[in-house]
Amino acid sequence: MRNMRSTLIRHLRVPLLAFLVLFLITSLVAAVEKPFNFNETPGKLPKDVVPTEYAIRISPKLENFTFAGSETIKLNVRSSVHQLVFNGLELKIEAAAVDGKELPLPAIKTDNEKELVTLTLPSELAAGDHALTLRFTGKINQQGQGLFYMRYQEEGSGARKVMLGTQFEATDARRFFPCWDEPAFRARFQLTVVVPENWLPISNMPIESEQKIEGGKEVRFASTPPMSSYLNVFVAGELDLIESRVGPTQIRVVATKGKAEFGRYALGASAEILKYYNDYFGVPYPLPKLDQIAIPGGFGGAMENWGGITYYESRLLFDPKSSSGETKQNIYEVLAHEMAHMWFGDLVTMAWWDNLWLNEGFASWMGSKCTAHFNPQWEVWLARELPRDPTRRVGIAKEAAMEGDARSSTHPIQQHVATEAEANSAFDDITYKKGQSFLRMLESFLGEDVFRDGIRQYIAAHEYSNTTTADLWTALSDTSKKSVAEIAAGWTEQPGFPVVSVKRAADAQLRLTQERFTVNFKNAPPLLWQIPLTYSVVGETPSALLMTDNTAVLENIPADRALKLNLNGAGNYRVEYDEPSWTLLLEVLPKLGVEDRVNLMSDAWALVQAGRAPVSLYFGLVEKLPASTDLAEREQIISVVDFVNGLLLGSSEREEFQRYAQSLLRPTFATLGWEPKPDETPTAGRLRASLIGALGYLNDPAVLAGCRERFAKYLTDPTSLPPDLRAPVLAVVGRSADEKTWDKLHELGLKTTSIEDQQNFYNALAAATDAKLVRKTLAIALTDELPTSRAIFLVSRVARDSGHPDIAWEFAKSNMKALLAKVDAAGANRYAASQFTFFSDGSRADELKTYAKKNLAQASAPEVNKIVDEIQFRAEFKKRLATQLAAWMERKNR
Ligand SMILES: [Zn+2]
Repeated sequence: MRNMRSTLIRHLRVPLLAFLVLFLITSLVAAVEKPFNFNETPGKLPKDVVPTEYAIRISPKLENFTFAGSETIKLNVRSSVHQLVFNGLELKIEAAAVDGKELPLPAIKTDNEKELVTLTLPSELAAGDHALTLRFTGKINQQGQGLFYMRYQEEGSGARKVMLGTQFEATDARRFFPCWDEPAFRARFQLTVVVPENWLPISNMPIESEQKIEGGKEVRFASTPPMSSYLNVFVAGELDLIESRVGPTQIRVVATKGKAEFGRYALGASAEILKYYNDYFGVPYPLPKLDQIAIPGGFGGAMENWGGITYYESRLLFDPKSSSGETKQNIYEVLAHEMAHMWFGDLVTMAWWDNLWLNEGFASWMGSKCTAHFNPQWEVWLARELPRDPTRRVGIAKEAAMEGDARSSTHPIQQHVATEAEANSAFDDITYKKGQSFLRMLESFLGEDVFRDGIRQYIAAHEYSNTTTADLWTALSDTSKKSVAEIAAGWTEQPGFPVVSVKRAADAQLRLTQERFTVNFKNAPPLLWQIPLTYSVVGETPSALLMTDNTAVLENIPADRALKLNLNGAGNYRVEYDEPSWTLLLEVLPKLGVEDRVNLMSDAWALVQAGRAPVSLYFGLVEKLPASTDLAEREQIISVVDFVNGLLLGSSEREEFQRYAQSLLRPTFATLGWEPKPDETPTAGRLRASLIGALGYLNDPAVLAGCRERFAKYLTDPTSLPPDLRAPVLAVVGRSADEKTWDKLHELGLKTTSIEDQQNFYNALAAATDAKLVRKTLAIALTDELPTSRAIFLVSRVARDSGHPDIAWEFAKSNMKALLAKVDAAGANRYAASQFTFFSDGSRADELKTYAKKNLAQASAPEVNKIVDEIQFRAEFKKRLATQLAAWMERKNR
């Protein structure tokens, strides 16, 4: 799955207790992590009854958004039972029969709290094969969970239409049909649906047969191979498609009528990616077809249903006339991520949600590797070095994971998951991004070929089955002849990551010390890692060292030569240089590759955040950088000044900081200019867009005027504004909008049938700073102008961009019930708390705690702790920054 948000889990308050809990958690994980074994896999369902085949028939009723269903499940009873226990949620079971014998209704017990259905059998059911038949009804949801509906405006005609889709991960297949809804219960699924005659239904497998019936048609899909229940999919509506073929595999892009042609880019990319993965994994894609399905609502991300991947429309469709270069790259990356899941996740599935990172960390790493392989011009790995920003470029940033992982609210990659709500919370930065970063570090340590051979061995050994992390380490240890489990333990079984301090000693010796790197986390329990270190004397051959102790010594490092650790920033650790080493590095900046420069910038900024260095360390480095238009390097600066500018809201230092920040960014913008050049690289186009957005946010008068002028021209001639410039120009115009401009932007947003343009217009509305307009924007979240997943994010967007997080929170608080009705399962635990993210006043942390105690479920606690930590960090950092920045800028003025 690919999400649009981020979160972190465990918060350890009392140091001693923290240490004990941590010790317990880590030793527990270490102790229980064994190869996959069905009987020992965690879960709620008894393991003595195993479903092998489902035949499901669903008939949706659009007039009242309900459905009627029936199913027959072939069961393998492993030892005799008196009860059948399986999952069901918000389903009404109207009849049940075992081996054709109807059960009396009182024998059927549904427990919505536990999400379980229990059938009490009249007599013992003997070991062997049996059949369970059920008849049930359920509801079609507004938000993207279970079976849901979406309303949208049709391309061309502009008519309001409705369509259906499903979203089951992590635990919502049970809302669609009663089932053994835990990943280790693999079975074959054969779906039959009834839909209107002019609708196209899609599922995991191709259509097997189709017949007209009263009120529509009945469509039967072929049976799937054995797979986990959460990977089922059903999408239906007035759809179009385009198709191609790779060997035996039919590839299609499916979209609402009139939009399939915008799938041309994704269709080509899918073919390229499929060939790459067929080779990489050593096992060819096993299903007869692969559908990439664009849906105009439900969620903001994508979901790897086997053979029928669903995408939020703007993550799959590309309109060459209006889509930006960034959209194109996002599409490729999301495709590569989801398609990697066809093997890692679908063909081989994690046994339980505590190993979710096996799916997500792996798909994130593989997707980035594949994207970088075919598109070196995008600098994919470099883009991971940017600090976190909840609304931009999620899913790829290593820095984003490291920022969260330094805090008290972090958790290990492998984490204990007991309940459905906890499973839904597991989809976070640590699982995705730290997982990805660790795999990249491990791959470079073991070697690309050895690593790939290990993956091939793993897939071949476990296809159509489930695994734990231990199974992956076994395969990689086999091919590498290294004890991978031992190296990996520190990274996946304990939270956090290290900082390596570098100290020059006499005799050309360099002393290294590792310790846990933390931010806003006093008395953190000390931990130790096996660090695959890389280093080189600048200009010389690189070396590597596995640092297994607290200290290490590097010999023969000339005292007058610069030394760079963590080459290309590929390792998931920070480096803190002593002054002589730092000074030497500053002198050779132009000789370093951009990857290494960005790595120095990221580490410097992190050291400032951690209070280990003053802000002059970071800005001193930035001022020494050679002039360049390298995207990642400039974006790193943009991210930092954006963050500081937001933090200083209401401070007396803000204006002077804005002028200073403008002076850092303007030279690069002057080089690039406003107008795209025909021969420029894609990164130049993206950097121009970022600079316009950033300089506009910094109130740069020339950029503000330039944006307004271009918007006026755009109103009479929409083609005058190049696709790459639309988002930033509209956002800058929105920020300073008066009511008339706001109304115009709103009107444009209502009119467009392009999800991408729509997003740009509503983002612009969200940026308006006038309090009256802020309230007008917020009110939109309660209407059905936007897909549910976008409507709910509008509130956070306003909190971030309008400079009025207070108004946004007041609004959210007053309308929480209506807003939560639009939030899917994965967002339910975090929605309320996340509205506090952009406060930097300590009293808001207390307000959140009080609010949570009164209003939020226990499952929200980890998210609440994370946001409380974020507010406290911002409050403390704001004070520190204001003083240090004043001194830095004063020195500059002198
Ligand atoms: Zn995923």
